[in-house]
Amino acid sequence: MDVSAEMYPKAETLELRRKLVGSSCRLFFSHDPIKILRAKGQYMFDEEGKRYLDCINNVVHVGYCHPVVVKAAHEQNQLLNTNARYLHDGLVEYATRLSKTLPDKLCIFYFVNSGSEANDLAVRLARQYTKQKDVVVLDHAYHGHLTSLIDISPYKFRNLEGQKDWVHVAPIPDTYRGLYREDHKDPATAYANEVKKVLDEVQKKDRKIAAFIMESLPSVGGQIIPPIGYFHKVAEHVRRAGGVFIADEVQVGFGRVGTHYWAFQLQGDDFVPDIVTMGKPIGNGHPMSCVVTTKEIAEAFTSTGVEYFNTFGGNPVSCAIGLAVLDVIEKEHLREHATEVGNYLMELLNDQKKKHPLIGDVRGVGLFIGVDLINDVENRTPATAEAEYVIQRMKKECIVLSTDGPGRNVIKFKPPMCFSMDDAKLVVEKLDEILTDIENATKAGTVIFKSVN
Ligand code: PMP
Repeated sequence: MDVSAEMYPKAETLELRRKLVGSSCRLFFSHDPIKILRAKGQYMFDEEGKRYLDCINNVVHVGYCHPVVVKAAHEQNQLLNTNARYLHDGLVEYATRLSKTLPDKLCIFYFVNSGSEANDLAVRLARQYTKQKDVVVLDHAYHGHLTSLIDISPYKFRNLEGQKDWVHVAPIPDTYRGLYREDHKDPATAYANEVKKVLDEVQKKDRKIAAFIMESLPSVGGQIIPPIGYFHKVAEHVRRAGGVFIADEVQVGFGRVGTHYWAFQLQGDDFVPDIVTMGKPIGNGHPMSCVVTTKEIAEAFTSTGVEYFNTFGGNPVSCAIGLAVLDVIEKEHLREHATEVGNYLMELLNDQKKKHPLIGDVRGVGLFIGVDLINDVENRTPATAEAEYVIQRMKKECIVLSTDGPGRNVIKFKPPMCFSMDDAKLVVEKLDEILTDIENATKAGTVIFKSVN
C-alpha cells in the first residue's frame, strides 16, 4: 500500500467509519471532518494536499514525524521488541534519563501504555500505600477513560451514573471564573482551604482518603493556572489526612511550560508530589506512558507480593522512542523555544484583549495558553457559541483549534513544541478578523452563527 495515497475517497472513508466505528468515538468537525494523509512538524496535510496548522496536538510534542524519533523507532524495531521481563539497557537508560528531570525523591518508575493506565496505576499505588480507598478530585477534571478514572473525573461522571461515595470533589482553583478571583488577597490559601473543607467532611463520615489527584495545570477544566502556593498547602492538608498527592502531567509535562520540565515545578522547586503520571507527549504519538513515585510508595506496592506485569509497558521500542523524544527536547532547546514563542503569543493575544470585549482573559505559561471568551464583563458569562464559531472559521483558514472548560468557551493552545513565531502571528491575525466580524455583526443585529446552547 502506498501510505501517501488515499485508499478511499473522503466521502467513502466517512461512510465506512460511520458504519464500522462506535459513534461515541467522535471526529473533530463532525459535519465536515478533516481527512489527514500526512504531517510534518506542526502541519498536517489533507487528501488534497491542503496544509493545516495544528494548534492543539500536544501528543506530537516535538513535531509530527520527527526524523530522530522515527529513526529510533525504526532501528529498535529492526533489532528487538519484547516485554520488560528481560534485562534490557533501553529501560534502565530511559528511567535514568527521566529521573534527571525529576526531584530526587521521585525515583521509582513504572512504564505503561496510556495516560489512563498511568492514572489507574497511580490510584492503585496510593491505595496500597495508604490502605484507603477515597479520592479527592478537582471539579471539571478528566483523568482518563478507564472505569476507575471515569469515577474520579467529574467532567465525565456528571453526565453518567454520577458521583461514587468514595469520590470527593473540591472546587477548581480558577482565579478568573472560580470562587476566589484575582482580586482575592490570597487565592492559593483560600482554594487550599476548600480542599481542607472537603477532607474534613470525609473525616466526619468516618472515612479516610488514599489520594488527592489533580492536573498540574487543569486543561479540560479551562486551561487553568493554579495560584502559586496552592500545591504546597493542599499537599500539607492531604498528607495530614493520610493521603498522597498525585500530579497528573499527562497533558502538560515534558517542558511544555518552558521554564520547567514538569508543570508542578511552577509551584516552586521545593514542591514534590508523591506520584506523577506522564503520557501523551512522552512518545510523540507512540502509545506509552509512565508513573513515577517514591521508594516508600513503591515498596508498599511490592509488599503485596503480587507481581505487576504489563505486556507492552517499557518495551525496547517504547524506550528508544522515549529517549529520542528527550534528546530532541534538549538538542532543539524546545523548552526555551516554548517560553519564547509562548510569551510572544500571549503578548499578541493580550493586545487583542485590549481591542475585543469578547476576550475576557488570556492566561497561560509556555505553550499552554487559554483565551477565555465572554459575553459580558460583569458576569464573565462564557461566550460558548462565539467560541464555537471561532473554531469553525479557523478551520476554514486551515487552522485547527478547539475549546475547553465547563462553558466550552476557552480557546486552547497546546501545539507541537516547534510552533513558530510566524504561526503565532498568523493565528492571532485570523482571530482578530473573526472577532471583528462577530462584533460588527452583533452591532448590526445580524446573526452570523446559531447559538450552540
Ligand atoms: N489525564 C489527562 C489530564 C488527560 O487529558 C488524558 C487524556 N485526554 C488522560 C489522563 C488519559 O490519557 P489517555 O487518553 O492516553 O488514556
